[in-house]
Amino acid sequence: MKFIFADSLDYVDPAFDFVADRSAADRQPYWDDAYPHEILGYAPYDGVLVSRGIVGDHRVKGKYTASQARRFSLVGVRKFMRLDKPEFAHLDIFGDCGAFTYVQEEKPPYTPLEMAEFYDECGFTHGCSVDHIIFDFDPALEGMNGGSEDAKQRFDITLENADAFRREARAMGADFEPLGVIQGWSPGSMAEGARRLVAMGYDYLALGGMVPLKSPEIKRCLAAIRDAVPASTRLHILGFAKADDIDSFHGYDIASFDTTSPLIRAFKDAKQNYYLPGEDLALRYYTSIRVPQAIENPKLQRAVKKGQFRAEDLLRLEGLALDSLRAFDRGEAELEETLRHVLVYSAPLVEERAFEDCEGSTALARLEERYRITLTERPWTQCSCAICRDASIDVIIFRGSNRNKRRGIHNLAVYKDHIERLDLKRAIIRPDDLQCRLCPAES
Ligand SMILES: [Zn+2]
Repeated sequence: MKFIFADSLDYVDPAFDFVADRSAADRQPYWDDAYPHEILGYAPYDGVLVSRGIVGDHRVKGKYTASQARRFSLVGVRKFMRLDKPEFAHLDIFGDCGAFTYVQEEKPPYTPLEMAEFYDECGFTHGCSVDHIIFDFDPALEGMNGGSEDAKQRFDITLENADAFRREARAMGADFEPLGVIQGWSPGSMAEGARRLVAMGYDYLALGGMVPLKSPEIKRCLAAIRDAVPASTRLHILGFAKADDIDSFHGYDIASFDTTSPLIRAFKDAKQNYYLPGEDLALRYYTSIRVPQAIENPKLQRAVKKGQFRAEDLLRLEGLALDSLRAFDRGEAELEETLRHVLVYSAPLVEERAFEDCEGSTALARLEERYRITLTERPWTQCSCAICRDASIDVIIFRGSNRNKRRGIHNLAVYKDHIERLDLKRAIIRPDDLQCRLCPAES
């Protein structure tokens, strides 16, 4: 099973100074920064996915600057992402339209021909057909029942585009492998979409619109699709947000999936921010320690404007929290004293009150419990990746993109190992055992 990382310019500054808390003045982002495969010294994924909607153009505002988008189309995806070295030659480069960027439009802004040319000219190895996201998924509907007028229209657009896309790719002798994207409003409609894509000649299908779905719903779709297509048809899950559940999906014979979730959870999850391998082929999670920048954090700034706190007091507490965390890492400060400095600075953020006025509150007590585990177990000392070796305790401090994305990249590395260990486990399960597990759709 291939783990494809959906990139959106997720690089960090390798020369970032954690103590001074800044990059060099002459740093040029993109040029001086390092992608995950650069800072780790190896690729923590089997490939990357780049969405056209993230690159952007005159129609869809992407994440790339205009000059980055120009360079992307000029040099191609491999060179742009600095994956043009022999050690990265085995990596797949998937492309899709980024249907979420035009979800509000009546139809996709790209034609099948345009997308086929884009993938071919930019050197993608795999390209997804031009799909249109369908809202209002209902797992309870049977067969082709239900579906609004809008849903049916999007279903038809997606299939017509897939048919044209495959023909265009063949006509131009494209080097990339086309994937037909499935969109539907129910497991049955997705299965029907898959059946029609196979009839068009596709043998690699991508399930779209999965981002908001829960794991049991995704499994229902997979079970219905697996029933409708030949066993040799490969399946990819686009935007697989439930990536940590991947082990429970193994009966559906998924060839590949793309996700950003291990990276994103480093700074978007309330509790599970730092990954380590756990027991029984599970992942173990730790809460990162929030020490936001007093002069940049919007919540703290509002509190200062309202007169609840003085900026200089917050800066002093921030400095004490950071200094004691680093001293703790060097073995020069005790756990209790470090924890207290962190919690004293957390109070204005969590409770909008001074620590003395809310000591022992439920929110602070919960935070204390999680932070105590993080500091007691020192998970950053248990990882040998280049990031943890270099950043030490800073990798677990929730503060600014250079720490938060580093933690996310460390998570990618742990996740890649996790997938490999699961694949190994699968390889030693006898095929008839596997058969018993096929398609046990959960309700
Ligand atoms: Zn690490």
